[in-house]
Amino acid sequence: MYNPKSHKAEEFISHEEILETLEYAQKNKNNVELIDKILSKAKQKKGLTHREAAVLLDCEIEEKNKEIYELAMEIKQDYYGNRIVLFAPLYLSNYCVNGCVYCPYHHQNKHIPRRKLTQEEIKNEVIALQDMGHKRLAIESGEDPVNNPIEYILESLKTIYSVKHKNGAIRRVNVNIAATSVENYKKLHEAGIGTYVLFQETYNKETYERLHPTGPKHNYAYHTEAMDRAMEAGIDDVSLGVLFGLELYRYEFTALMMHAEHLEAAFGVGPHAISVPRIKKADDIDPSAFDNGIDDDTFAKIVACIRIATPYTGMIISTRESEACRERLLKLGISQMSGGSKTSVGGYFNPMPDSEDSAQFDISDRRPLDEVIKWLMELGYLPSFCTACYRAGRTGERFMDVCKQQQIHNFCHPNAIITLKEYLEDYASEQTKSLGEKFIKHEMEILESGEKIKAAVAEDLVKIEHGERDFRF
Ligand code: SAM
Repeated sequence: MYNPKSHKAEEFISHEEILETLEYAQKNKNNVELIDKILSKAKQKKGLTHREAAVLLDCEIEEKNKEIYELAMEIKQDYYGNRIVLFAPLYLSNYCVNGCVYCPYHHQNKHIPRRKLTQEEIKNEVIALQDMGHKRLAIESGEDPVNNPIEYILESLKTIYSVKHKNGAIRRVNVNIAATSVENYKKLHEAGIGTYVLFQETYNKETYERLHPTGPKHNYAYHTEAMDRAMEAGIDDVSLGVLFGLELYRYEFTALMMHAEHLEAAFGVGPHAISVPRIKKADDIDPSAFDNGIDDDTFAKIVACIRIATPYTGMIISTRESEACRERLLKLGISQMSGGSKTSVGGYFNPMPDSEDSAQFDISDRRPLDEVIKWLMELGYLPSFCTACYRAGRTGERFMDVCKQQQIHNFCHPNAIITLKEYLEDYASEQTKSLGEKFIKHEMEILESGEKIKAAVAEDLVKIEHGERDFRF
């Protein structure tokens, strides 16, 4: 029985409800009247139900699809402006006891080098990341209660936050580790994590169990209910995602929207962000073995529909995707991206030759962070290293309230300008710096915040030039 308020996986991600929704969407994919009705609701920019969103995803009418893309771009502009928040993943350990068939870290893979960073090695990674200009990280780890217990993750968080190298600092650490207990989520919350990230991989229970044949991750309900436990433990910023390619995309999209609805219904706050990873080639993994791969056009449609259905939810794209693909998706709804990433354990301080590499998957966008920053500005985007909301306690419901009133610009835009300025002063190449200075000048001219805020930002920019750091609104 479908019940978005329930805390039981099979009730808030009801298989029957998904199948009925998919049938409804197929039946109505050319129903102009209904699609117009959904689009006019979507134009209020307050989101859609999973059923409405599924109809838009299936819509086959060319001119309506054009409207869908235009609306996604408009919503993106209204809620997120031209800002793009940057982060990097930090792989702590690839020891893993699970048997996930799409992931090279799976337990049976005997030829991938297994590594776990010591605290000293973590310091080196963090210094390398700070020297690139990063302020926000997402830590990643395999699941292994002996090698990577929660105490190891907590100690690592402490180490990461403690490293202060030159003007560098990691000001927000998001955590992408396997589903765990309320007690452990409480510990992560107390350690000051930013967002808790967990990809569902696939919402289809049967497929899920087949693709996770062994290990604790095999338990579909425990994995699917993880965000409920995280919320119960006080973590109010959680980030969802599916690994596109494992299951039919229409199924995953509908379930993802239902998961977002569930969090809103059960906790009064939807997901902070949604990631859209696609399966990639990796050691021991051939993506063509999974027959649900999606092409770039379908991927773009998914991103546009997520943007329309959940306007208040950030959307994240990683370096799994190419420069061209990232450029296309930025317009349609992406608000955060990784840059200069390494997916191997220890890869920032000590890059390994391919034969000894422990990389989780192949990266498509291999450009250094500085090039990504320059490219973003050339495209008219304002790169942001901002971490202010989390540090000012604007998380969960408080963040969503600000976002829903479209006041987020008042904080985010000044903060983006200030943190970009820090980046330009401390880490940018000559070319990026010179472009960045012009970019900031232009952004200051068109800044929509009141005169008081504008003056304060201008003052902070001068202080940054004189060596002061870490201002925020
Ligand atoms: N081990 C943790 C867990 O069980 O959720 C999360 C960390 S894992 C390093 C992060 C994510 O990488 C996984 O959730 C999965 O979606 C993704 N991933 C695994 N194999 C991949 C592949 N071959 N291509 C792309 N992404 C992959």
